Amino acid sequence: MMKICKDCGTEKEITEFNKRSDKSDGLDNWCRDCSRAKQRLYHIKYRANNKQKINEYQQNNKLRLSEYQKKYREQNKAKIASYQKEYQKEYRKLN
Ligand SMILES: [Zn+2]
Repeated sequence: MMKICKDCGTEKEITEFNKRSDKSDGLDNWCRDCSRAKQRLYHIKYRANNKQKINEYQQNNKLRLSEYQKKYREQNKAKIASYQKEYQKEYRKLN
């Protein structure tokens, strides 16, 4: 089955769309690529608009955040290493 993405206008397999139970066809109007791009944009905008708030939060939660990051790194060593490998591969390809 195919569906046209409302954002980029490309016809794609429905597997390229995220599931959305609140939509009539059970699928997002945007393809995965577009919703990822939107999410990224949202985060960039959010960060730009809330710099102060984020800074304050980080200041207030420094200890907790670094503890969390430490724990996360310890628990996901293998995952992080493989991400980094992938990233470096992509990076080298681009440069
Ligand atoms: Zn799209």
